[in-house]
Amino acid sequence: MNYDYIVVGAGSAGAILATRLTEDPKVSVLLLEAGPDYPDLESLPDEVRIGLSTGADIITRDHNWQFWGNPSPRALPMPVPRGKVIGGSSSINGQVFLRGMPEDYDIWHDMGNTEWSYEKVLPYFRKLETDLDYSGDFHGTDGPIIARRHKPEEWIESQRAFYNACKDAGFPDGPDQNHPDVTGVGPTPYNNPNGIRWSTNLGYLSMARHRLNLTIRAECVSRRVLFEGNKAVGVEVESAGETFNVFGDTTILSAGAVASPQLLMLSGIGPPDQLEALDIEVLKDHPGVGQNLRDHPIMSVLWSVKDTHVQDPGAPRSQVAARYTAAGSDIRNDMKLAFNSFAIADSKIENRKDSSPAGHEADINIPVGVKISVSLQLAESVGYLKLVSNDIHAQPELNFNYYSTEFDLQRGREGLLKAISLGESGYFADILDERLQPSDGQISTEDSLNDWILRNATTGQHISGTCKMGPDSDELSVVDQHGDVKGLQNIKVIDASIMPDCIRANTNATTMMIAERMMDLI
Ligand SMILES: Cc1cc2nc3c(=O)[nH]c(=O)nc-3n(C[C@H](O)[C@H](O)[C@H](O)COP(=O)(O)OP(=O)(O)OC[C@H]3O[C@@H](n4cnc5c(N)ncnc54)[C@H](O)[C@@H]3O)c2cc1C
Repeated sequence: MNYDYIVVGAGSAGAILATRLTEDPKVSVLLLEAGPDYPDLESLPDEVRIGLSTGADIITRDHNWQFWGNPSPRALPMPVPRGKVIGGSSSINGQVFLRGMPEDYDIWHDMGNTEWSYEKVLPYFRKLETDLDYSGDFHGTDGPIIARRHKPEEWIESQRAFYNACKDAGFPDGPDQNHPDVTGVGPTPYNNPNGIRWSTNLGYLSMARHRLNLTIRAECVSRRVLFEGNKAVGVEVESAGETFNVFGDTTILSAGAVASPQLLMLSGIGPPDQLEALDIEVLKDHPGVGQNLRDHPIMSVLWSVKDTHVQDPGAPRSQVAARYTAAGSDIRNDMKLAFNSFAIADSKIENRKDSSPAGHEADINIPVGVKISVSLQLAESVGYLKLVSNDIHAQPELNFNYYSTEFDLQRGREGLLKAISLGESGYFADILDERLQPSDGQISTEDSLNDWILRNATTGQHISGTCKMGPDSDELSVVDQHGDVKGLQNIKVIDASIMPDCIRANTNATTMMIAERMMDLI
């Protein structure tokens, strides 16, 4: 059997591509996914299905690759979750449904990706969503992903206190956080109608499952792309311990920002020194594969709560967040503060004592208080991913290099102090008890603040950029703006890895937009 398309990875991007490609009955698609498949809402395990009360804190272990990464040279290794299930990370994520700033996409355009300006991508953001709260020029009302905000009357006590504290501190009201001109504090949009995590599995694949031109094979790990000369002809796949070769006219890697560059390198495409060191024959010298690792480093200011303040583990963990522009920065909304009404043991750096995944047993359901997460939305610092084995089952080394520039540190210091001062607002008088981290000593000088940041910044779960798209003049670009891997034929990468830079928002909506936009370009 020779398929028209083989899509590797049924995540935020891959599930959309498979759905849209098979709208044409003449096009055959094989969708390969390493994790399990759950074909309908009823068969989804609770930890995948229910999203109402889960922040990104409560993270499945069964449907998770459970990677580890290095935040900075001073910090302990950190867990780096990624979805290993149909729907990919959209099936385990926090469901924050935020777009980047229009400038983010205009920057991509100015980097030479002329098809990716805000004006060009806006129709695809609209196409993918049904926004239950807003319509008009900037919103979609009939797309597969359903989004809504918690109405002010639904806000729980601590979320309301955060909103009021922000307003008192001068943050403007930002009721529609997906409006292009927005800034300030307001309800976060979530893709979780009725408490259901509305993944690309539910939103998209469910529309396509009956199609005879779509074959979905779950629990199949793709090992490498097969080539004849410079032309991709198929994929080597492991299924229940056996290895198979499957063939297709075009192979699309949508395995996410860790596995897509890993698969390219295992196929001989990447920096030659890394490949040769692992006895992988070099098919194409591509210095950018695995470089340009982007993310949103996040820090938690953590408080215990008063005995009289009841924390309901079933209540929404986060409803309200604030965006602002750091002092001295000309990058609009380059910082985000989000209030979490139920901080768990993992929020404390000391709980990452053991750097081995097996030793990582911090209890995920024990509340230690509440927190404000401080997130740098457009960092200067850049990390990299390095292949350390020619075995697909060995994760690449992930080096995030957080806060490695003074500008990033300056914004991080200000963000921490801003979060601490919000916690001192009278609105929290009946809620917060004691600040657990950082301590007064840890914030007493610029050096001590820097040290705390470098030891505590952790992943915001938004890995991107590791196969970036760009023009030929950009030596580190891996794909062109149509997703085609440069210098090779019949192979594309379409997922979060092709973002040239991270965006000033959580990455799921943008990854879905990338898949929708690419479909039109295909
Ligand atoms: C815990 C967590 C919380 C997050 N919270 C939010 C949030 O609230 N809002 C937001 O906007 N973003 C959030 N994100 C980020 C967002 O979900 C991701 O940016 C987005 O899902 C990435 O999409 P993708 O298609 O690039 O990769 P993924 O969705 O990760 O899909 C990749 C797929 O490829 C499969 N795969 C990998 N390797 C192989 C292989 N060798 N063979 C076969 N299949 C393979 C994986 O199993 C997976 O299904 C979160 C992410 C995580 C992990």
